[in-house]
Amino acid sequence: MMSNPAPTPRITCFVSRPFSENTYLVHLADSTRCVVVDPGFESEQLLEKIAMLRLTPVAILCTHGHLDHIAGNEAVKSCWPDCPIVIGKGDAFKLRDTFANLSQPYGFDLRSPPADREVSEGEIVSAAGIDFEVRETPGHSAGHVIYVVRQARPGVVLGGDVLFASGVGRWDTPDGSWEELEASIRDKIFNLPDDTIVYPGHGETTTVGDEKRFNPYVGAAARR
Ligand SMILES: [Zn+2]
Repeated sequence: MMSNPAPTPRITCFVSRPFSENTYLVHLADSTRCVVVDPGFESEQLLEKIAMLRLTPVAILCTHGHLDHIAGNEAVKSCWPDCPIVIGKGDAFKLRDTFANLSQPYGFDLRSPPADREVSEGEIVSAAGIDFEVRETPGHSAGHVIYVVRQARPGVVLGGDVLFASGVGRWDTPDGSWEELEASIRDKIFNLPDDTIVYPGHGETTTVGDEKRFNPYVGAAARR
């Protein structure tokens, strides 16, 4: 059965200050069920925002296991215990490993509840009436994944720390790699339609087309 193209989900951004990390609340216009992507620090304010919008989280999707993208997992999970925590299989251990999630280097011990579901390339996570396609995108964190909503017009990428507006994720992390990061962007993001909207883990929203043309690291301007 072919599914009809669905409307682009509504996406609200909540920025937590310590790392200027973007948490996204994703839901369909006619539903109060939402997905929380990368719950970060300042979780009390995040919970207030969710209450203000009268949304009910039904899943937590993490792009990767770094502290600023998982710090709010526990708060969301304790309010909505049925919310599964979803993360790429290669980064799931970072939820519990304070060295690997980089909290120890920043001077504290941050542990998230463990993963409820570990996902791999090509899997679909269906939550809040939305299908999220998982793509593995190593380079910033070895088990990093992005979540693509292809049914939407325009399409949506919840992209974490891979591709930013005029930038890319750091690759000087313990398991980072420039070659892998570049390949992830070219093979997993730049093959999406130009009008696809990228919601990154830090900074402003952008589109695939704009970054293909203008991104100083991986865009046309970067090629010699
Ligand atoms: Zn990160």
